[in-house]
Amino acid sequence: MRFIFVTGGVISGVGKGLATASIAKILQQYGYTATAVKIDPYINYDAGTLRPTEHGEVWVTDDGGEIDQDLGNYERFLGFELPKKNNITTGQVYKELIDKERRGEFLGQTVEVIPHVPNEIKRRIKEAGSGFDFVVVEVGGTIGDYQNLPYLFAAKGLELEFGKNNVAYVLVTYLPVPSNIGEMKTKPTQQAIRMLNEAGIFPDFVLCRAPVPLDDVRKKKLETNANIDADNVISAPDVDNIYKVPLNLESEDLGKKLLKHFGVMPLAEPDWTNWKRLVENMNHPKKTVNIAMVGKYIDIGHFSLTDSYISVNQALLHAGAEFSVKVNIDWVDAKKIEKEGTDCLKVYDGIVVPGGFGASGVEGKIKAIEYTRTHNLPFLGLCYGLQLAVAEYARNVCGMQTANTTEVDPNTICPVIDILPTQKSILAEGRYGASMRLGAYAAILKEKSRVLDLYKRTGRLEEDLKRIEEIKKNGQAFRLGIIDGQHNVVIERHRHRYEVNPTFVQELEKAGLVFSGFHHREDGTKLMEYIELPNHRFFVATQAHPEFKSRLGNPSPLFFGFIEACCKN
Ligand code: GLN
Repeated sequence: MRFIFVTGGVISGVGKGLATASIAKILQQYGYTATAVKIDPYINYDAGTLRPTEHGEVWVTDDGGEIDQDLGNYERFLGFELPKKNNITTGQVYKELIDKERRGEFLGQTVEVIPHVPNEIKRRIKEAGSGFDFVVVEVGGTIGDYQNLPYLFAAKGLELEFGKNNVAYVLVTYLPVPSNIGEMKTKPTQQAIRMLNEAGIFPDFVLCRAPVPLDDVRKKKLETNANIDADNVISAPDVDNIYKVPLNLESEDLGKKLLKHFGVMPLAEPDWTNWKRLVENMNHPKKTVNIAMVGKYIDIGHFSLTDSYISVNQALLHAGAEFSVKVNIDWVDAKKIEKEGTDCLKVYDGIVVPGGFGASGVEGKIKAIEYTRTHNLPFLGLCYGLQLAVAEYARNVCGMQTANTTEVDPNTICPVIDILPTQKSILAEGRYGASMRLGAYAAILKEKSRVLDLYKRTGRLEEDLKRIEEIKKNGQAFRLGIIDGQHNVVIERHRHRYEVNPTFVQELEKAGLVFSGFHHREDGTKLMEYIELPNHRFFVATQAHPEFKSRLGNPSPLFFGFIEACCKN
């Protein structure tokens, strides 16, 4: 096993996540297997309880982890499912140690920060990296942060255990160009390097993030002042498209330099043709579609948090890349629609209602959905988007005027979206976390449905069926439910508590709403996963979060269908 530790200097948000994802992607291109691990030095056990204003979107893994959004970029770049163990937090490390201590597993020893904390960190990194040629570890936070130290210490420990030749340190740093000076400054980076040195780490590579490319003069300057070979000082200027990052790093030969550092040869000739084609499609689109994302928006200061929907954004862009269209995403506050009506939606080619929680803005979202249904405008509903589309249909087509989700109105006489009886007992015991449907679930799709057609056309049906065969063969614990004899089975991830109430399904179906997929639970319950309207240009929603499985070059079927429909506007 070989380790690459990625740390960040000078500022937070310097792009360590994308650098980590890109490094692993580049190594993959050279024929090696690579995985990526994110370290979050916070004490939260995972990101499940964090509000979106803290660290952006909560990323959901197949195995039901609610973790840091950086893992999303790793998956989007690497193209395979990463498990929740690839996100390590200080909370997990300490919880594990304290639990072990309580069970008496330390046999009377004093449990200390050194060596027990770094030992547990090393164990987790090795576990996540097991079976891969390379494990790229992103150490969250910025060099100089107190809470990083145990992780840097653990990195040194792995160096001792596996040998210097099997470890590389990469510092991702920021070089400002102050407007009054007009010159790129290297001093903050020199100081970040010195701080790393204090932890015994001498970076082998420095990735220099800056508004513009780094010139040779500055590379030399860092060589002279920080003892880093100028060849290993890599320019990583700002880009308008994140998928250019690995291409840019490769234009500086980062891959070959890394392999040289580890003393290994390329196993394959990199082939970026398809990746480049899609990036090219995004940069030179033939057409533009305008999409409104109708959601609840929380602002911090002047900065609106589009980061909380990063995967939805990415999924829209992936679909756009397939059709060579630019996807313009506007954020429309659902509360504005509540106050001012749906006039502001007239200019759009399609509407997305993404996931969400709570009552705020819900009536605005329902109005927006009604608008798309009655104006034959493409609509894609994700999770809460499906639930509210069901409520809208019940109200305006089935005449159940008070239809609602019990999340918003616990006393409605038409609870079309509700907590299932099995969850109610869990909630009564106060086990809120356990009442969520989290992670990947299989869904059986309806013959001749639009949803099935999209999963077929994008190749995802075939891909998911293969995956299911593997899961069955390996006897993996996985929420497939009852799928015996079914041929139209797909897998998507979930993060929600409420479900379509089975009591109302028949009545809604009679009124024309098609339930085009369901999860068949072992206890026989059918959980509705997809809805669609047959005589509409595109009216599709899902209880799942398909955005988590969308990749550049392998777009999510529903997003693909949605953008395709928007293009025809
Ligand atoms: N609030 C809804 C639920 O808990 C939807 C959640 C979501 O959109 N992720 O079921």
